[in-house]
Amino acid sequence: MRLTEPSRDCSRCPRLVGFREEQRVAHPDWFNAPVPAFGDPDAWLAIVGLAPGLHGANRTGRPFTGDSAGDLLFETLGKFGLTRGRYDGRPDDGLTLSGAIIVNAVRCLPPRNKPSPQEIRECRPFLKDALEGLPNLSVIVALGQIAHQSTVKAFDGNLASMRFAHCAEHGFPGLTLIDSYHCSRYNQNTGRLTALMFESVFARAVACRDQAARAASI
Ligand code: SF4
Repeated sequence: MRLTEPSRDCSRCPRLVGFREEQRVAHPDWFNAPVPAFGDPDAWLAIVGLAPGLHGANRTGRPFTGDSAGDLLFETLGKFGLTRGRYDGRPDDGLTLSGAIIVNAVRCLPPRNKPSPQEIRECRPFLKDALEGLPNLSVIVALGQIAHQSTVKAFDGNLASMRFAHCAEHGFPGLTLIDSYHCSRYNQNTGRLTALMFESVFARAVACRDQAARAASI
């Protein structure tokens, strides 16, 4: 397995480095560094998020941990048997993932949750390495447009023919990419993404995995 993580002081994105330094001064007890992937190195499923949230992963150091996006994500993963232990919004809550791993397209906290195209590009090698280093990967769920685009580009896909849409499926050799609206509080509050809609994405992920396993055994 190859999981290359950026260093705590990765300097490839000057704007994000400046914002990181501001947070280190304002909140010296927070994580305030590139957030590493979290989950099972033998995962069949990778979930690609956008970037750490200020009070979520940037504070706690674990993707989707400590804010409401994580509540829905980990609850949903639990329904599909992909969690062990109980999620309690803390990196020391004992939760682990089984069969799944979470990685962000951009590892550092961006101001207003908006990384620039250049920052997304700079961080893509880490995303690519993380995904390519998973020997059993068969399905990727991309949360939101930016995660979708960066994942497609990481695998040299064609964005013009692989457009983002909720529940859209895109084929790569040995791999299916499924899109979902991001499980952000905004999308939940506006009804853009309901728990049921989110579950349907993971139900498709399981179906795609089983389909790939059947095809491989023929
Ligand atoms: S976003 Fe990625 S590439 Fe940019 S500074 Fe952070 S870890 Fe480095």
